[in-house]
Amino acid sequence: MKLVTVGTVAFDTIETPYGKAERVVGGAATYISIAASYFTKELGLVSVVGDDFPNEELKYMQKRGINLDGLQIKEGEKSFFWAGRYHNNMNSRDTLDTQLNVLADFKPKLPTSYRNAKYLMLGNLTPEIQAKVIGQMKSKPKLIVMDTMNFWMDIAMPALKKTIKKVDVLTINDEEARQLSGEYSLVNAAKAIHKMGPKVLVIKKGEHGALLFYNGKMFYAPAMPLAQVYDPTGAGDTFAGGFIGYLVKANSTTFENMKRAVIYGSTLASFCVEEFSIARLKRLKQSEVNKRVKEFEKLTKFTM
Ligand code: AMP
Repeated sequence: MKLVTVGTVAFDTIETPYGKAERVVGGAATYISIAASYFTKELGLVSVVGDDFPNEELKYMQKRGINLDGLQIKEGEKSFFWAGRYHNNMNSRDTLDTQLNVLADFKPKLPTSYRNAKYLMLGNLTPEIQAKVIGQMKSKPKLIVMDTMNFWMDIAMPALKKTIKKVDVLTINDEEARQLSGEYSLVNAAKAIHKMGPKVLVIKKGEHGALLFYNGKMFYAPAMPLAQVYDPTGAGDTFAGGFIGYLVKANSTTFENMKRAVIYGSTLASFCVEEFSIARLKRLKQSEVNKRVKEFEKLTKFTM
């Protein structure tokens, strides 16, 4: 196994200015793994669902090459549930409901075949569980990428900081970077966050792209300007999946490859937002990914 991802596999109810989708498939690990499956087929997922989670959705993930030996299915219990409502600008949202359900007493158990993976992706879920997964790795991964959100900053900051200390790359959005660091300027926030442990920081700015901070070097990638954004849910996770997926494929963590990884992350995320839930990703072809990466190249290239 080259890549192991831990995170939620969930049901979401989403309201955007374009409509409402009730109890659709979501979850950080779902989006991350689907995105990463465009780069490697040696990937495993660590999570938990209740027996209410549709089998056909799990089959779809397996068809994409995602190994589900690390996914626990709890009889008689309910899957993690999240509900959110986007504001008119689609760049910010309110969480209306978070029901941990099976996640409340989840004890991750990594299958033996996962424990030597070189790349570990800690998707959004409790920081204690993220730390437990690091602890179960047999050898130190070449790269640990961690994603998190304001929810855990609000209720579990000390545990969150402990986990952050152990990771190489942190991916969060601009508001979360400000909350975590107490700094308004993102440059100063990055400096403060580097001191907390991660050598690399990716700050996601929704429709305004993403910033990469790497050993004092900086890179900025815009988001692909799109005619229609229907549902931004999972964009951050899809970004993270494309980002780490590309690094797994390149098997390199240099600045140059991280820059490309940011572009691939942005590319995958640009598809995710075009429809509700994972609908667009489900029919996304490799050729469409390759084509949009070329469009990104054109979008950002200029000569002096
Ligand atoms: P994103 O839009 O990339 O921030 O991710 C949205 C996804 O994260 C949704 O599909 C939710 O199921 C999941 N999610 C929402 N809140 C949490 C939480 N507190 N912990 C873990 N996953 C969450």
